[in-house]
Amino acid sequence: MVRPSIMSFAMVCIFMCITAIAYSQQNEKPYVILISLDGFRHDFPAMHPTPNLNATAREGVKAKAMQPCFPTKTFPNHYSMVTGLYPDHHGIVANKFYDPASGKTFALTTAEKSDPSFYSGEPIWNVAEAQGIKTAAYFWPGSDVPVNGRYPSIWKAYNKHTTLAQRLDSVVQWLQLPPENRPHFIAIYLDQPDMAEHEFGPLSEEAKQQVILTDSLIGIFQRAINDLPVADKINLIIVSDHGLSETSKEKAVKLEDYIPSRWLEYPTTMGNPVVFLKAKETYYDSIAFAVRSIPHVKGYVSKKMPRRFHFGKNPRSLDFTIIAEAGWSIITNPPELIKKGNHGYDNREKDMWAIFYATGPAFKKGYVQQMFPNISIYPLIAYLLGIQIPPADGKLRPVRKMLK
Ligand code: AMP
Ligand code: ZN
Ligand code: ZN
Repeated sequence: MVRPSIMSFAMVCIFMCITAIAYSQQNEKPYVILISLDGFRHDFPAMHPTPNLNATAREGVKAKAMQPCFPTKTFPNHYSMVTGLYPDHHGIVANKFYDPASGKTFALTTAEKSDPSFYSGEPIWNVAEAQGIKTAAYFWPGSDVPVNGRYPSIWKAYNKHTTLAQRLDSVVQWLQLPPENRPHFIAIYLDQPDMAEHEFGPLSEEAKQQVILTDSLIGIFQRAINDLPVADKINLIIVSDHGLSETSKEKAVKLEDYIPSRWLEYPTTMGNPVVFLKAKETYYDSIAFAVRSIPHVKGYVSKKMPRRFHFGKNPRSLDFTIIAEAGWSIITNPPELIKKGNHGYDNREKDMWAIFYATGPAFKKGYVQQMFPNISIYPLIAYLLGIQIPPADGKLRPVRKMLK
C-alpha cells in the first residue's frame, strides 16, 4: 500500500524537476527584437532630433549606414533581411511584379500578396521555430503568409490602421507571456516615416515630425522592455528598409514616348522608379536600342545587369530592367501618381541607405560599424539566437566585429 504513494511522490518530483529545468532553460535563452522603421534614411539622425537612437548608439552599436538590396523597395528588402537572400533569390523582386511562370501578378494590395508560391527562402521565424524557439511578428512583410506552410507562433494580418504605439504595446505584452508561450524572436514593422516622406517629401516638416515621433516611440518601448524581468537578455535591433529621394512632377519620363506599349508582351508592371519590360519577340532589338537613349533612366538587359546589383537573373525581372535616376520618375501606363518622395532606385544612391542600431548583451558598447549589406541581418539574428541557418547570400562576417 505504501509503495504506490512513494512511487507517485517520486514521479511528481521528477516531473517538477524536468519542468523546472525546461523553465529555466527556456528562460535563459536570449531574446532578439527586430524593429523596422520604414523609409528611415541613414542621414536623418544627423538632420533631426533623435535622442533615443543616439542613446542606443552610445549604449550599443550604430552603423554609418546599412545598404539595402536593389530594388530599394519595402517588400524585397524586408524579406531579404529575414531570409538572407537577394530579391533575385527569394523571388519578391518588387512590391508589384508579373510572374511569367504562373501568369499571376504579385501586389501588396491584392490576395496574391498572401500566396506563398511567390515566396522562396526560409524566413528566420520558420528556422527558429523548427529549432524549438517561439517567434512572433507584428506585420513584418512575409510574416502573414504561410511560407513553406508555416507562420510565426504569433502573427497578425496586415492592417495599416493599427497605430504604431499599439504594435509596440503588444510586443511588450508578448514578452510577459508564460515562458512556454513567450516568443524569443519578435519582428515589428512600423510604416513611418515612409508614408509622410512619400506624401510631403523626405525633407519636409511632416517627415521630420514622423522621425521625431518614431524615435520617441522607440524610447518609450525601450523603457518598457528595460523594466521587464528578461531585460538583460534582450538584444534589440532597429533598422530601416531604405531611404527616400525627393521627387516632383517635373522630373518625370514618359516611357510610352520611347517604348510604345505595342512593343510589349505584357503591360508594364508598375513599379516606378523601377520598371520591368517583356518585349514582343519582334521588338526585342528595338527595345534594347531604345532603352539606351531614354534620358534620366538607365536601361539594362535584366540578365546582364552589373554584378553589384545581384539582380536580373530571376525571370520575374523579365527582359529589361529600367531604373530612373535618383529623384526622377518613370510614367508607365496606366500612370502612377507622382508624389513628393520615392525609393526603389539604385542601392548605390546615398538617399537609399538605411539605418542600423543595436543594443543588448551580445553587442559592443559605443561601436560604430561601417556600412554593410542588409542580408547580413539573417545570419546575425541566427547567431544571437544560437540557431543553424540554411545557406544564404548574407554572411555574418561583415557584422562580426560589432559583437562582443
Ligand atoms: P512602399 O513604400 O511602396 O515600398 O511600400 C510601403 C507600404 O507597404 C506601406 O505603406 C504599407 O502600407 C505597405 N505594407 C507594409 N507591410 C505590408 C504587409 N505585410 N502587407 C501589405 N502591405 C504592407
Ligand atoms: Zn519601405
Ligand atoms: Zn515607401
